[in-house]
Amino acid sequence: MSTTVSALLAPSAGAPFERGTIERRDLRAHDVRIDIAYAGICHSDIHQAREEWGAAIFPMVPGHEIAGIVSEIGPDVTRYAVGDRVGIGCFVDSCRECDACLAGEQQYCERGFVATYNSREYSGEDTHGGYSQQIVADENYVLSIPEGIALDVAAPLLCAGITTYSPLKRFGAGPGARVAVIGMGGLGHVAVKIAHAMGAEVTVLSQTLSKKEDGLRLGADHFYATSDPETLGNLRKNFDIVLNTVSADLDLDAYLATLKLGGTFVYVGLPENKQRFRSASLIGARRSITGSNIGGIPETQEMLDFCAKHNIGAEIEIIGADDVNAAYERVIRSDVRYRFVIDTRTL
Ligand code: NAP
Ligand code: ZN
Ligand code: ZN
Repeated sequence: MSTTVSALLAPSAGAPFERGTIERRDLRAHDVRIDIAYAGICHSDIHQAREEWGAAIFPMVPGHEIAGIVSEIGPDVTRYAVGDRVGIGCFVDSCRECDACLAGEQQYCERGFVATYNSREYSGEDTHGGYSQQIVADENYVLSIPEGIALDVAAPLLCAGITTYSPLKRFGAGPGARVAVIGMGGLGHVAVKIAHAMGAEVTVLSQTLSKKEDGLRLGADHFYATSDPETLGNLRKNFDIVLNTVSADLDLDAYLATLKLGGTFVYVGLPENKQRFRSASLIGARRSITGSNIGGIPETQEMLDFCAKHNIGAEIEIIGADDVNAAYERVIRSDVRYRFVIDTRTL
């Protein structure tokens, strides 16, 4: 038995979205049913719907920035009640046994987590994400959205928020630290808000100055255009952390040179190509290059609570189901300010 719900489906790689239906399973003992209110469009949705990261599972219902209301709970659920405001991010299950899972870092599960979509449950069923009216998930993989954040601006925090919060915290964004954010899109604009709230001095490195006013309003202290050939040279040995949210190839050596002694370059953007740099760019100032993948359930909850406390939500443009194909094109053109969020009532 299952429940049929409306959804937006990509029938095959790169094909336009179509309206259709999917089945949501009946509740298991620890499951909650969530009536989805809003689903953000992450650039990772586009990468997967277009099969830019390798073979994907179709038909695909993307969406891992999900906010909604609990509408039904299984008999053994203790964490949530009907009516609660909740969210789901990039995964809906993990092995719960490996060192990473036991440490609450399910995003690095050794068995591999079950992604919210374009994945399979350990029992074999395809998973489907937030571009749909309901989702059923185990309560341990559901987040509580604090009262202080509206559901529409909270949705993008479930991926863009945690993906930037986690490395900013780990690598020391705070008072006295200088943080650069490369790319002010969905992830980047939330990174600016979070790093500012953490107390860091924040610089945006954007392709042009077209988003400068917004960047300063969101909390950046400085905003530079990387199309200006002098920009990076003028910032030599300036930053403690450079957070790269861009999925295109960059001149890594030029960015590494902007790090101070011991500084850290963090990939969260996922370019398709192999990346290249000179080892001298690291050795010259004991710099590091690292990467960071979303965040675990405890840290995601911490991030939501932090955002509520600091009044942080995403800057969004709400769209209907019929606008999603056009929205994908606009994300690719960096023409979104700063996250598209689907109102799932329009499904
Ligand atoms: P997005 O909204 O498209 O933002 C990316 C930004 O990068 C753009 O707004 C643009 O900012 C800049 N950019 C675009 N093309 C560029 C180019 N050719 N050269 C330089 N800069 C360019 O995407 P997003 O949703 O924030 O996602 C960003 C990346 O992170 C994607 O690869 C996504 O798959 C990945 N991601 C990773 C994780 C993780 O856990 N690590 C989680 C979520 C997403 P400006 O206009 O300011 O230049
Ligand atoms: Zn994402
Ligand atoms: Zn695990």
